[in-house]
Amino acid sequence: MKLRNKINLYTAFLFALLLLLINITVYYSFNKLIIDSEISTANKEIKKISENIGLSLGSIPEGALLRSYVPVNGMIQIVTADNKSLPAVTSPGEQNLSKRKAEFFNSEVSKTIKYQGLQYTFESMPIILQDGSIANLQITKSMDTATDNLSILRIVLFMVTLLALIPVLISSRFLSNLITKPVTSMIRTMTEIRQSGRFKTIKLEGKSKDELFQMGETFNHMIELLEVNFEKQQQFASNASHELKTPLTIIESYASLLKRRGLKEPQLFAESIEAIHSEAIRMKEMTEQLLLIARNQEQWNIEVNQLNLHELITQSVNAFKNAYNREIKWVEEIDPPIIIHTDEKKLKQLLFIFLDNARKYSDEEIVVTAGIEKEEVFIKIIDCGIGIQEDELPKVFDRFYRVDKARSRKQGGSGLGLSLAKEIANAIGISIHLESKLGVGTTATLFYKKKMKI
Ligand code: ATP
Ligand code: MG
Repeated sequence: MKLRNKINLYTAFLFALLLLLINITVYYSFNKLIIDSEISTANKEIKKISENIGLSLGSIPEGALLRSYVPVNGMIQIVTADNKSLPAVTSPGEQNLSKRKAEFFNSEVSKTIKYQGLQYTFESMPIILQDGSIANLQITKSMDTATDNLSILRIVLFMVTLLALIPVLISSRFLSNLITKPVTSMIRTMTEIRQSGRFKTIKLEGKSKDELFQMGETFNHMIELLEVNFEKQQQFASNASHELKTPLTIIESYASLLKRRGLKEPQLFAESIEAIHSEAIRMKEMTEQLLLIARNQEQWNIEVNQLNLHELITQSVNAFKNAYNREIKWVEEIDPPIIIHTDEKKLKQLLFIFLDNARKYSDEEIVVTAGIEKEEVFIKIIDCGIGIQEDELPKVFDRFYRVDKARSRKQGGSGLGLSLAKEIANAIGISIHLESKLGVGTTATLFYKKKMKI
């Protein structure tokens, strides 16, 4: 069953039930009230009549006496102790009542009775006849008017219930529309997305920031996020294939050169092998970096150990110095050894990425410092090289992004270093801060966020 129909059905059913309960209570209360008042009137009447009859018995014949007190729609009779009725006097419309079997009661009786499908009040009052015997003065009165009124009340309440259901149905329809509209619009948009393969957001109407509005907003936000991720992924795939195409083309062209003339020209042979070898290494590095970037955080296999920061940086700096024959000044800003808990290999990898950039994009001495600032351990890699323009700074962490493509190509970069650095830093809980000024130099700072021991 559709949500809209469910809401309609449940609301209508609940309201109908509620109205029914209220109306039944109203009806039964009125019913009791009317019957009680009929009985009490009849009771008062019989008391008065029995007093008067008591006074007039003997002086006026019983028949004539009863006739003067007969109710408009009922019967008056005197019943003796042997259950026999002296001739009863009935009103013209209630002659049937005289056929009812007479019954003597020892005490006063006040009740309602049913006779031939009709309701009556029945009053019986002991009186003393002229001969001294005890008899009952009994008055039976039709409750026609009261039952008529009650049946009118029944009809009115029934009609009220039906009428009240109309606004209930209208409002439940309005309510269900209000709730299901954003949901159906969301379903429609999702179906459209599925069929067309293109991302779409839903139009949000109304100013109230209710849950349905929030749901729509969240949906749109999610779609935007998916779209951005999808585009990024597409761009990544096209960038990756584009970047791999260049070394492959170089390898292919040198290989075909080798095939044609390589054996005859030893110099060409050596040059081609060298080019193929270096391009193959570059491709290998690039694919390794790509694989690392594509990994999830959980697949990083982090091994946390207690490390002496001084030793770790000294080792990395020395290794780098030897590999590239570059001057690196290593300055530790505080005396006691700094102990951190992190993954040694990953932190070294991170340092190499920044040292590699400092090496590639500067010619002068590189400075490495470490210390503690606001309870956070920091490592700075400072170079006085070409620097990065301010508006390019946020982009350098994007995959394959290079500030000056021609220049970076000469230096052999593929634009993956910093994006890999970002992933590694995230995995080991380090934050990166990059400061740079064009033509002045660049400072990369690594902040170790976790609480450290000194
Ligand atoms: P890869 O590191 O993958 O070999 P890359 O060095 O070009 O290649 P990233 O390390 O991601 O890539 O750096 C992105 C770009 O940011 C670089 O191409 C360069 O233009 C700029 N950049 C990075 N570090 C520096 C720096 N220290 N000085 C000047 N420019 C830099
Ligand atoms: Mg780099």
